[in-house]
Amino acid sequence: MARKKIIAGNWKMNMTPSEAVALVETLKPLVQNEDVDVVFGVPAIDIVPVVEACKGTNIAVAAENMYFEESGAYTGEISPKMLVDAGVKYVILGHSERRDYFKETDADVNKKVLKAIEHGITPIMCCGESLEQREQGITMDFIRQQVKIGLQNVTADQAKKMVIAYEPIWAIGTGKTATSEQAEEVCKGIRQCIAEIYDDATAAEIRIQYGGSVNAGNAAELFAMEDIDGGLVGGASLKPDFGKIVCYNK
Ligand code: PEP
Repeated sequence: MARKKIIAGNWKMNMTPSEAVALVETLKPLVQNEDVDVVFGVPAIDIVPVVEACKGTNIAVAAENMYFEESGAYTGEISPKMLVDAGVKYVILGHSERRDYFKETDADVNKKVLKAIEHGITPIMCCGESLEQREQGITMDFIRQQVKIGLQNVTADQAKKMVIAYEPIWAIGTGKTATSEQAEEVCKGIRQCIAEIYDDATAAEIRIQYGGSVNAGNAAELFAMEDIDGGLVGGASLKPDFGKIVCYNK
């Protein structure tokens, strides 16, 4: 079974609610591609207006984070129930910015992954090495640990529906893209790791994105690689160029 590509924007901490709606209106006609699942990952405050603005389109909405409790005294956090009620279908978990600035651990990411799945939200679980780790030759060791801990107690059937985003930290927001060979090598390694944890069928079904300075110029080459099933796109997802990325095969 061929894996359908999934291309997701990560707006990070950009766009006020009114700016967000205006951006959706600009991008709507540009992101029509039946070969691709299109996702907009938006700040929490933009979720409700963006879901409304995306009604009747091919665009699904992702949250950029989520807490792993149902409700209660967790000031400032957002629960899976709230996201589901608002119409969210995906959640980006374990982005390197959250791991770095907000000290999220692999164990935290695992709790969030399990909670999201329990509520029917598809996790986009991020992993990726720093430049230092790449230079030390421990890229795959580090990523295997992130993936193995992140997927603890996730069943094969649940893992099959998940998305993993490989995002080398040195390529995020730097304009420095991994070559398609570098990106493919790690995405293939992640798929092998999934086969070891589960089985070949699960590895063949799970979707693995590449993220890190994807733009209209490099998307087609990256997405043509065997083990790269689309992208997680930061900076370029805020521009009309995102339409060109989504329509990379047209
Ligand atoms: C990201 O935010 O996940 C990302 C990959 O950013 P950029 O595309 O700007 O490098």
